Amino acid sequence: MKKHVLLLLFTLICLTTLGQSKSNPAAQADLLIRQMTLDEKIGQLNQYTSDRNATGKITADGDKANQIRQGKVGSMLNVIGVEETRKLQELALQSRLKIPMIFGLDVIHGFRTTFPIPLGETATWDLELMEKTAHAAATEAAAYGIHWTFAPMVDISRDPRWGRVMEGAGEDTYLGCLVAKARVNGFQGNGLGNIDAIMACAKHFAAYGAGVGGRDYNSVDMSLRQLNETYLPPFKAAAEANVATFMNSFNDINGIPATANKYIQRDKLKKEWNYKGFVVSDWGSIGEMVAHGYAKNSYDAAMKAIIAGSDMDMESRCYKDNLKQLVLDKKIDIKLIDEAVKRILIKKFELGLFEDPFRFCNQERENKQTNNLANRELAREAGKKSIVLLKNDNLSTGKPLLPLSKQIKKVALIGPLFKATTANHGFWSVAFPDDSSRIISQYQGIKNKLDKSSEILYSHGCNINDNDKSGFEEAVATAKSADVVILSLGEAANMSGEAKSRSNLHLPGVQEELLKEIHKTGKPIVLLINAGRPLIFNWAGDNIPSILYTWWLGTEAGNSIADVLFGDYNPAAKLPMSFPRTEGQIPVYYNHYSTGRPAKDENDKNYVSAYIDLQNSPRYPFGYGLSYTKFDIDNLKLSSTELSNQKNKLTVTVDLTNSGNYDGEEVVQLYIRDLFGCVVRPVKELKGFQKVMLKKGETRQITFTLTPEDLKFFNNEIEYINEAGDYELFVGSSSDASLKANFKLIL
Ligand code: BGC
Repeated sequence: MKKHVLLLLFTLICLTTLGQSKSNPAAQADLLIRQMTLDEKIGQLNQYTSDRNATGKITADGDKANQIRQGKVGSMLNVIGVEETRKLQELALQSRLKIPMIFGLDVIHGFRTTFPIPLGETATWDLELMEKTAHAAATEAAAYGIHWTFAPMVDISRDPRWGRVMEGAGEDTYLGCLVAKARVNGFQGNGLGNIDAIMACAKHFAAYGAGVGGRDYNSVDMSLRQLNETYLPPFKAAAEANVATFMNSFNDINGIPATANKYIQRDKLKKEWNYKGFVVSDWGSIGEMVAHGYAKNSYDAAMKAIIAGSDMDMESRCYKDNLKQLVLDKKIDIKLIDEAVKRILIKKFELGLFEDPFRFCNQERENKQTNNLANRELAREAGKKSIVLLKNDNLSTGKPLLPLSKQIKKVALIGPLFKATTANHGFWSVAFPDDSSRIISQYQGIKNKLDKSSEILYSHGCNINDNDKSGFEEAVATAKSADVVILSLGEAANMSGEAKSRSNLHLPGVQEELLKEIHKTGKPIVLLINAGRPLIFNWAGDNIPSILYTWWLGTEAGNSIADVLFGDYNPAAKLPMSFPRTEGQIPVYYNHYSTGRPAKDENDKNYVSAYIDLQNSPRYPFGYGLSYTKFDIDNLKLSSTELSNQKNKLTVTVDLTNSGNYDGEEVVQLYIRDLFGCVVRPVKELKGFQKVMLKKGETRQITFTLTPEDLKFFNNEIEYINEAGDYELFVGSSSDASLKANFKLIL
């Protein structure tokens, strides 16, 4: 009798608390945790893949399915589609507490519609656009039962040998922060709980892009100042934008693998930044600490990872196999597990999964995404805005080759990438069986654009990556009979991406030789370069009149490229990474530190910090990109020569004039240089930019503001400080900006 009364009382208390906590995910999570066994808690920290690409989908009677039924799996990755996610979620709901699973996937640059690779899209410098494409990707993925994307990758990288530069926003921290925020906002839309919002994931925490020699998964040994100043800010920006999750990284940082790095995960992220989301390990990274020589075995690895604040174990099984024993052995406090579980459950509540575990499973919504026209339009827009015009000879005399006329009599399309379909997606696209028929090849895009009277000649020329020159003869003959030749060359799409580091960044195979043969015909040539990273192509840069860098543009690649080639869109993209002259020059990046022996000019080799056989400057600098029109920037004015805490704001104005023959956009960039500091400062740092559309002949005043906050930096004590002193300020159309003024910061 007494027992029954107590039970009734307890139920009443629970119901009342539940009522009060309905809109409070943290309270809801606490309530649930109280009912969970240790095994169930550990289950929430365990994430499995569906083996989509390896052994096929999960079968209802397999081992993983049984674990799901027992509440031993908190999340799965690589499960796609309403049918499959529903099937697995039903298994999770057979568990004692019926806690739904979260389904995660690498939705990196689109889903059913593929948008440009993130590095390419960053070249748009169009934050609103990046937010839109991320949101479109989220809408599509959410309709397929996905709750969570492992994106954006916000790793700064200064090394184009690293294959994963294609996934990020390039070399600059300031731009990287803004892009991180835009992408998080895009994926998460109006907030978790909305049916078109999925959880974003800031990865890879941290400094993954700084591995030795550009080799993937490699070590990072750097000062804490450098780490805080250059590599952590985009993560902080993502945290400030409320990114739901973080993913840690494979590399070690100063000897401690990121997965077990307390400084990174606990001190910075969870304490200093007060981050409330959860951290998932990278694939197997907890277990990999054994190979790292940082953990003795998986027991030790699990202990080190949970202590350091890794909340969810992606696929290493170290948590599943060891956490219970670690608690029983009193090696870890159960509070650590409770904390991790709570962080994860909060997100499940925020996603609305407890109210309706199948809310992302809706066949009608899924069907609608198959060929979503609005998203295709967006992909075309993002594609054309990502294309960088590197060269267009005779731009100043008004007689450049580009844009081409739609009435060309005969155009020759030569190269291995014209008829490619899926290659246009680049790495990290979600492959659907019927995808290739929906992709607009470059050949198709150009055909769509040309007048009926124009004739298209085509020759494959050579493959991307072998020594076969047997197609050269036909290609040369094709070129000879055309009025204009367009060559489409580049890397293979799978030469950049995860585990795709390269030591040689030249055009692979015999492509450059093909280019030289075609050049001998004397025909006007436009070169399209497709790649997931900055490539090296000095001969082309010196000899080919017009070059467009087209990255991998996605589903609408062909149409986007044709829009630019034939002038329906005037290119305005700017490089998000410096392009090296040789591999030996890497890392080459614009915001390097001053040295005591700087070269006076590009030819100065006299005991200065330079190579005796090469210029220091990159082939194409960060922020560089041309337009079909011509822009002039002048009349730089500062509201004051002093910035102080009292005045608190410096207004910088320039006049931007479109003095060319086309309407167009320019990205006006503002850089500063701190001339003297308690630590050596970079020679230039981007602090602002504006993308402006001007009609031909138009002049507009562009205004920037600088505050003392913009001038802060980390000293060697890792304090984020302002220092009084002299600064230079530059405005221009790339990091080579030379229009200059001086001001003082007075504190
Ligand atoms: C990559 C992550 C990715 C994960 C899941 C790892 O190998 O480093 O970026 O999200 O796999 O696919």
